[in-house]
Amino acid sequence: VPAIATIALGSNLGRREENVLRAVAAIAADRVGRPLRTSSLYQTTAVGMPGAPSFVNAVVQVVPLLPPHDLLQRLQAIEARMGRSGGHMQSREIDLDLIAFGDQVLDDPGLTLPHPRFHERAFVLIPLAEIDPAFACPRTGRRIGDLLAAVTGAGGVVRISGRSWIMRS
Ligand code: ADP
Ligand code: MG
Repeated sequence: VPAIATIALGSNLGRREENVLRAVAAIAADRVGRPLRTSSLYQTTAVGMPGAPSFVNAVVQVVPLLPPHDLLQRLQAIEARMGRSGGHMQSREIDLDLIAFGDQVLDDPGLTLPHPRFHERAFVLIPLAEIDPAFACPRTGRRIGDLLAAVTGAGGVVRISGRSWIMRS
């Protein structure tokens, strides 16, 4: 069984839904991975960014076509191409985070796997639970249901569009 890579997408600037949709298309077109499952779109309250516009978030799982560092590099190239302006904790057209790469645990400069903060982010856990209810954290072994039960801010995550949105592309 090939490893599955899990990617979280977020946009809170410009045409947010369209940005997320275009980024999913780019993940396939740029051969980051072969798309397996894409979550619904969610509108989520910006966390730790007072006054910032809300985000549109989604999670996609792919069969990776590149090793982890190259895969993240290609995600960052998509961010740059799509005009990402803001840095960490700033508003941005698109943010692409590598949540997990199979069961790999990595603590390299520039790449931590699984993503170091995914387990505290309802806007990642809720879409991920939708498409992969059997997901477990590769580092701790904790299951997605347990992680979700422990997280705060789930009320700020509202599903805005069913899975069929992806078929529009
Ligand atoms: P954030 O997503 O936390 O708001 P950035 O998107 O600006 O912030 O990412 C900050 C840095 O995090 C990037 O330079 C990247 O090298 C690093 N990073 C480490 N691990 C990961 C990962 N699993 N996915 C995405 N970025 C990561
Ligand atoms: Mg990021």
